Amino acid sequence: MIKPLFFVFSAPSGAGKTTLVRYIKSLFDHFDFSVSYTSREPRPYEKNGIDYFFVSEEDFRNKIKTDFFVEWEEVYPGHFYGTPRQPILNCLRDERVLLLDLDVRGGLAFKKAYPDRTVALFVGVSDLKILEQRLRKRKTESEAKIQMRLEKARLEMEQAVFFDAIVPNDRLEEAYQFLDQLMESHGYPVRRS
Ligand code: ADP
Ligand code: 5GP
Repeated sequence: MIKPLFFVFSAPSGAGKTTLVRYIKSLFDHFDFSVSYTSREPRPYEKNGIDYFFVSEEDFRNKIKTDFFVEWEEVYPGHFYGTPRQPILNCLRDERVLLLDLDVRGGLAFKKAYPDRTVALFVGVSDLKILEQRLRKRKTESEAKIQMRLEKARLEMEQAVFFDAIVPNDRLEEAYQFLDQLMESHGYPVRRS
């Protein structure tokens, strides 16, 4: 069995990608996280080089021209996000596992680029109201931005069928259990002390 090296988490905003990537990272502390580039402003608690590499739109556009990204998207109007290619190549060379948090289009594009080494996961919730509640509770977006994210979420939910698996995340315990089994089935058993 060729083990996958890339576990991509995609979902509408607020579904729980960041939370679940952190969970997997806590189980397998030698896994790396793919730090994307973005042209959006950092949130107060975000650190450059850890959460994202924050760059200007001009810088981002120049990087597109030099084929710096495996995939990139204008996820929200004027806000660009992209996966740098070099860390991916390094992981392939060193057989190291990488966790990625990408929007739905980006997740499918990444899977297309590395089909044999990628498990593309869609983080699902049963109702858009759950997303709305979580986004409000997170308090990181303005009301207008929450509405924009929910509008986009409706369309993104329809793409779930194209992913390798849907991680059910109405309740965290259910998602964790699902992920434990999924990692095990791909040759990464979860060992608890
Ligand atoms: P994303 O990265 O997909 O935008 P986050 O991981 O930031 O989503 O989750 C959005 C908010 O919802 C956060 O405040 C997070 O703590 C919370 N959250 C995530 N999963 C669950 C869950 N299963 N039950 C309740 N709250 C959750
Ligand atoms: P946020 O602004 O909330 O951090 O992220 C917004 C969206 O951009 C999320 O859905 C996140 O998964 C996505 N995203 C983050 N990095 C990338 C990337 O490199 N490529 C793509 N396509 N989407 C990304």
